[in-house]
Amino acid sequence: MVKMLLVDDSRTVRLVGRRIMDKFGFEVHEAEHGEDALKVVREHPDIDAVLLDWNMPVMNGLDFLKALRSLPLPKQPTVMMCTTENDMDHIMQAMEAGANEYIMKPFTEDIVRDKLEVVGIL
Ligand SMILES: [Mg+2]
Repeated sequence: MVKMLLVDDSRTVRLVGRRIMDKFGFEVHEAEHGEDALKVVREHPDIDAVLLDWNMPVMNGLDFLKALRSLPLPKQPTVMMCTTENDMDHIMQAMEAGANEYIMKPFTEDIVRDKLEVVGIL
């Protein structure tokens, strides 16, 4: 079973994401900021993929990504960074920091499915 970690400070976005991931039959974990997400990854070092928001309190998405990529995990998860359309500079930074793909917000089931197929999760 695919283990998916949803990281977003918006409860609504996490709820929408969870509904989509449930349909795909994934095991879903949630975190509300980067530090919370690092805790989840330490508890579940076999997370397969992360859907990662950028703007969050405590620790943002980019700082989480950098911390994640420096962890000695058996297998690094696939990371899909969430963005808004005018956020492409940020996305380039995220790709340089080790993101695998990006997803435009607000995301839909179709968009998420397409991206998961691109990265080989679905
Ligand atoms: Mg946010």
